[in-house]
Amino acid sequence: MPNFKKLAKGYEKEAILALQKYIRIPSVYDEHTIKEGQPFGENVKKALDYFAKLGEDYGFEVRKVDGYAVELEFGDKNAPLIGIYGHSDVVPVSGEWKYPPFSATLKDGEIFGRGACDDKGPLTAALYAVKLLKDNGLIKGYRVKIVSGGDEERGSSCLRYYFEKGNGETPRFGFTPDANWPLIYAEKGITHGTLAKKIDLKPIIAMDGGTVSNAVCDSLLVTLLPDEKFVKYLQEKKIPCDINSTKELLMLRFKGKTAHGSTPELGVSAIKLAFETIGAYYKNAFLSKLSTIFDNNGKSFGGYSHSTELGDSTFNFGVLHYMMNELSLSVDFRYGENASPEESTAKLAAYTEMEFHLDSVAPYLLYDKKSPLVSTLMKAYKKETMKFFDKPLAIGGGTYAKEAPNTVAFGAEWKGHPGNMHSPDEYIFVKDFINDIAIYARAVYMLGNLK
Ligand SMILES: [Zn+2]
Repeated sequence: MPNFKKLAKGYEKEAILALQKYIRIPSVYDEHTIKEGQPFGENVKKALDYFAKLGEDYGFEVRKVDGYAVELEFGDKNAPLIGIYGHSDVVPVSGEWKYPPFSATLKDGEIFGRGACDDKGPLTAALYAVKLLKDNGLIKGYRVKIVSGGDEERGSSCLRYYFEKGNGETPRFGFTPDANWPLIYAEKGITHGTLAKKIDLKPIIAMDGGTVSNAVCDSLLVTLLPDEKFVKYLQEKKIPCDINSTKELLMLRFKGKTAHGSTPELGVSAIKLAFETIGAYYKNAFLSKLSTIFDNNGKSFGGYSHSTELGDSTFNFGVLHYMMNELSLSVDFRYGENASPEESTAKLAAYTEMEFHLDSVAPYLLYDKKSPLVSTLMKAYKKETMKFFDKPLAIGGGTYAKEAPNTVAFGAEWKGHPGNMHSPDEYIFVKDFINDIAIYARAVYMLGNLK
């Protein structure tokens, strides 16, 4: 077996420079610069073109897929295919940064910048892993395609386009370097929808809370008719809310604690608090009942299910709007292989006496831990890292792997090095980055040589 660590080290300088240039393209989706051939805007196009140029320079066969994706291919024609799927788009920048977010500053062994760990770093590592194999004559009897999409962060329309309309080829084995080490073999199914109802909730005039359906709502603004006694009640009961009282209106901001929608039990819903409080005080049976669906797993209305691999179902209701007697509440429902999403959402609708509108369904994903794909990747990871006790993971979130057949998420966030993805000061350790190259090289080599 080749010494992948030593070989990877030889690409350190070149790979760092390539990654820095990649990060310096601020490839955030931009609707103002959408046109034919650049469906996600100018900078995403630039990042995809940059990735394609790297492929050309390194002697890969390059195919651009209508601005949705780019494919770099190398290997024996008609031999079995290994697919690697990452993305060139990044989420927008917010908050305070130590270094400018698109500077790709290298400081004390870390590269800072938006995209450093999600997903330009890991994808660049995968590219250099394949280049390493190619340069050393180690791609024999198999083919590799490295695919970069341009729209992962907004729901992966890029990879769907690639497989449905862009002549994307089903790989024998695939992985996506866009999650955590070591490997994710199981992902919950995710159903998104909205509960809606026409109802008069007097004395409530309006409610507005939450921004995304996949997070626990930590702040809900409720506007009511003025009510001095209710204000006293809130103060006496020490309900966590800001009170703003005028002659015409009473404005309350209920406060909770946010958490990811896949783990609602880690948060405190401001919506639940408001429903409980207002429902109890004004004896509004509808709101009181609605507050009971916030039990995080659907037991209250019979929507609960449990899977050995994927655990308990979860329900998060993250976004609430109420105005002119129109009430709507977002639904983020996650479940294992034995759940019936149709049945559970029907029970939710019946219990709440609201209408359920389906927005999207992402099916669950579940691979056998003993399958050649999972066991080979785990072997490659363990050999390179010596972390022999690490186990493949089951998660409540969804990764890029859901969009590609025969594919699991494999790396590249390291335990203890969270990388700050989607947050300020996103970074990747150079050491991790080079280790990623070695692991990916070994993984592709082992998959390619499977009988
Ligand atoms: Zn990503």
